[in-house]
Order: sequence, then structure tokens, then C-alpha cells
Amino acid sequence: MTDAHSAPRTVGVVVVAAGSGSRLGAAVPKAFVHLAGEPIIQRALAGVRSVARVMRIALVVPPEYVAVLAADQDGHVPAARVVAGGAERTDSVAAGLAALGSDIDFVLVHDAARCLTPVAVFDRVIDALQAGAAAVIPGVPVVDTIKTVGPTGLVTGTPERGGLRAVQTPQGFTREALAAAYRRGGSATDDAALAEACGIPVRVVDGDARAFKITGPEDLARAERLLAADAEP
Ligand code: C5P
Repeated sequence: MTDAHSAPRTVGVVVVAAGSGSRLGAAVPKAFVHLAGEPIIQRALAGVRSVARVMRIALVVPPEYVAVLAADQDGHVPAARVVAGGAERTDSVAAGLAALGSDIDFVLVHDAARCLTPVAVFDRVIDALQAGAAAVIPGVPVVDTIKTVGPTGLVTGTPERGGLRAVQTPQGFTREALAAAYRRGGSATDDAALAEACGIPVRVVDGDARAFKITGPEDLARAERLLAADAEP
């Protein structure tokens, strides 16, 4: 039997890959750096395509890469709608959201730089949306003690560690919640913060260590090691 919450809803994913990735020190934007012989962006797309419930993908890339990636979508299911990103991550997400189409019920926003994210993380986010949440983020407990620090370098506080989570992507939203968050606007380092600012409750589900973001050369090396271990018999 199906009811309003269990009826199938359409899922789209915005994959943001338009950052310069200057901290990686490569000659090409971060998503186009090769990881074990394949560009990060292709690994990220393959991961998203292996999530059974994903119906549509919007791929957001630097403007000079739009034509080449759009031409490369033949034969891929689902084919990605390729659009140009903007100066800030929020500009890139907004471009992807517009490209997804208004027939999508749930929008997942995913960093291409988290290209080893397991399918199970996507599934947990979609399950929570399906169960009625308006906004869902994957998070992992933090192992370090976190301090807040003032402009003079003095510690201003020590949040209780048990209540902290390091958050990852994909971050999932009903289309209405993400659209409302982006209509309100503002700058933020993740999409959930924009939703929080609108008063939208944000649910946390378990993330995964493999959903780490490739930022610096040491992250690339870590990803290479994980892939090499996967390939071992
Ligand atoms: O820069 P950072 O590592 O936080 O970026 C996270 C993700 O957002 C990356 O996948 C990057 O390509 C994307 N991004 C984007 N447009 C920007 C900045 C970042 O699509 N202007």
C-alpha cells in the first residue's frame, strides 16, 4: 500500500564541479584532475549513476568545459544536463537547480570532489526525504576537540564534542525547501546553512569516511590508496 510519504518521488542530483581547486595546485580545475587514471568528475558521475533512484543529473562545470561534457553524455543513463557554474559555490548550485527541471521532487546537492561517496550515503539521504524530512545531511562524529577562536587568537569557547558532526554531501532537500533557501540567499559553506537560516529543520543521517572531500594533494593520495585497496583481490 502506498500513501503520500511512501509513493515514489522523483530524485535529481546537482553535481557541483565548477570550483578552481587552487589548493590542489593542478593546471586544470579540481574536478578534471585524474585520480587513478580517471578524472574526479567521471568518478563522481559514475557514483551518482549507480544510485538506483536518481532520475536526473545536473552537472555544473566551469564555462569552458560545458561543450565538451555535454557532447560526452551520449549513452550515459541518466544523461547529465551540463551547465556553467559561477564564482561562488552557491552560484553553481543555483545554476544546477534551475537546470534540473520543476518535475523533480527531491534535490540532492553533491560535491564532485567527494567522488568516493558510497551509494549507501545517497540512499540514507533519499530514505529520510521519502520519510518526510525537508532537508537531510550526512554527518560523521568529530574526533578532534573543536575550539572557537576570536580575532586576537584567544579561545572563546569549546563546544561539547558529542553534539558536533562534520557534514558531507550529498545534502538532500525537497525542491521547495532548496528553492526557498536559495530565494532568501546569503553566503554559506553548505546548502543546509541556507535552509537553517529559513527556519527549515535539517535532519542528520550517518555519513561515511569515504565521503571525504578531495581538497589538497594529501586527499588525492588518500583516494588513490583507497582505490588501490579496492582493486586488490
Ligand atoms: O572549493 P570546495 O572544495 O569547497 O568546493 C566544493 C565543491 O563545490 C567542489 O566539487 C567544487 O567543484 C564545487 N564548486 C563549484 N563552484 C564554485 C566553487 C566550488 O561548483 N564556484
